[in-house]
Amino acid sequence: MDLNYDTNNIFARIIRGELPAIKVYEDEHTLAFMDIMPQMPGHLLVLPKVEVVTLYQLPDEAATAVLATIKKVGKALEQAMGVDGSSVFQHNGSYAGQTVPHLHFHLLPGPLKMAGAHATVPVETPQLEKIAAQIRDAIAYPNSPHSDTLA
Ligand code: 5GP
Repeated sequence: MDLNYDTNNIFARIIRGELPAIKVYEDEHTLAFMDIMPQMPGHLLVLPKVEVVTLYQLPDEAATAVLATIKKVGKALEQAMGVDGSSVFQHNGSYAGQTVPHLHFHLLPGPLKMAGAHATVPVETPQLEKIAAQIRDAIAYPNSPHSDTLA
């Protein structure tokens, strides 16, 4: 995969608001939205907004920001889906399985071994919207008032 950033890749266009996405969280440095072809219900993607292809190109400050969003959104995902654990993974380069050349992390509400193959066609928007609404609620109302301070 070309490590030179293509400013017209699909996630760059979602970040710029040129293409739609079902967002669950956004701040100045990061964005989280529903994967359109989920490997299980609740499959989320978390992105830094900085223009890099792989994790190894990510500036440290941007890494801190994206990790904070993964923690926030990942806990909310577990709460929303009613599960006790979740998985975070990402691919660096097409050799490793990366298909969209903007760095992104996958969040799954369960073990990797329960993840199916990608859906082959985009899932219907209302179905994704329903789960997204539950995740947004869980971000707004975390179960534990101390959850942000847990190790
Ligand atoms: P990768 O294989 O690069 O690690 O993951 C790319 C992910 O992006 C896949 O899980 C795929 O389903 C998802 N995806 C591809 N195109 C779109 C899109 O246009 N919108 C959304 N929300 N997800 C996409």
